[in-house]
Amino acid sequence: MSQYQTIVVKVGTSTLTRESGELDLNYMRSLAQQLSILRRQGRDVVLVTSGAIRAGMKRLGLSKLKTMREQQAAAAVGQGLLMRTYAEFFRDEGFTTGQVLLTRNDFTNREGFLNARNTLLTLFEHRVIPIVNENDSVAIEEIKFGDNDTLAAQVVALLDADLLLLLTDVAGIYVPAKKGQGARLMREVREITPELEQSAGGSVSGIGQGGMATKVAAARVATNCGATVVVVYGREPNVVLRVVEGEPLGTTFLPRPRRLRTRERWLAFSSPPAGDLVVDDGAREMLLKRGKSLLPVGVLEVRGEFSSGDVVRVLDQRGRELARGLTNYSAEEAQRICGRHSDEIEAILGYPGDPEVIHRNNLTLVEV
Ligand code: GLU
Repeated sequence: MSQYQTIVVKVGTSTLTRESGELDLNYMRSLAQQLSILRRQGRDVVLVTSGAIRAGMKRLGLSKLKTMREQQAAAAVGQGLLMRTYAEFFRDEGFTTGQVLLTRNDFTNREGFLNARNTLLTLFEHRVIPIVNENDSVAIEEIKFGDNDTLAAQVVALLDADLLLLLTDVAGIYVPAKKGQGARLMREVREITPELEQSAGGSVSGIGQGGMATKVAAARVATNCGATVVVVYGREPNVVLRVVEGEPLGTTFLPRPRRLRTRERWLAFSSPPAGDLVVDDGAREMLLKRGKSLLPVGVLEVRGEFSSGDVVRVLDQRGRELARGLTNYSAEEAQRICGRHSDEIEAILGYPGDPEVIHRNNLTLVEV
């Protein structure tokens, strides 16, 4: 039996629905059967499903969505249809399902992140199959992930899952082959390079919100959390079981070897940063090689508006992200003390403050 213990399976709208917009019941049944087999083997499985908006449109007889409100209404209708259908198929297999609807807001603060994590872990304890989607019927643009590839990667970060399967309507990730030869399917990705990100950029598959770019971005987060990621044609027979057993299908992104703790995963990937601190090469060295905190003396530039306690990015002079962390100082304070020694802080601000801008315990290195 393969080693994967916690598995997140994401299925896209175009895989789940027929051309007419109706839910593909045979497909959903097969998915429920495959996930149930994994569950019976003692693994924890989460299904991240799209298709709510499309199914709702069909039911409401809408061929196009003109407004956000219409989209929200379609999602409200479609989400119910989705859940009812899944619940029935999983019940046939002897399993109960639980609906978990999330938005970006749930990940912004640490309490939200831990709440969502605890809910999923408790569902596992009760042998329930969690079915996750974005809370589309209330989420407005500003607080939305917008696509379920991103959401699925966040679920990996929540659970420290070891496999993320993105079931889609193409065979995997393609990159341009040599001149005039069309595109080449990548079988294995060891490192997500800027070139790969760029060549995946922009391509959006038919009906859903995601595309190759969101898949590569999702793979970056999930592999950094220590998960293997497989992007694969979702209609391949028994695709979930075959991938879990190690059959090389689609594109496999290999995990980064390090394991992060829950807090580090939240810091690095789940909380949207409120600003940036650009640091000099000395500070870069201290952070990356020596495992030290970030001191004001190494900060060259402060960008954005943030308060103390917010998550900020740490960038080097070339603009590469080195780390994320919780800042002890607001942007305005950081501006005043940057480039100065810690023992000058009290004289500059007029009150004593922490010697570090970001303490090591509140900092996660982002792989560079
Ligand atoms: N949450 C959306 C839905 O259920 C799908 C988002 C996506 O296509 O990635 O319709």
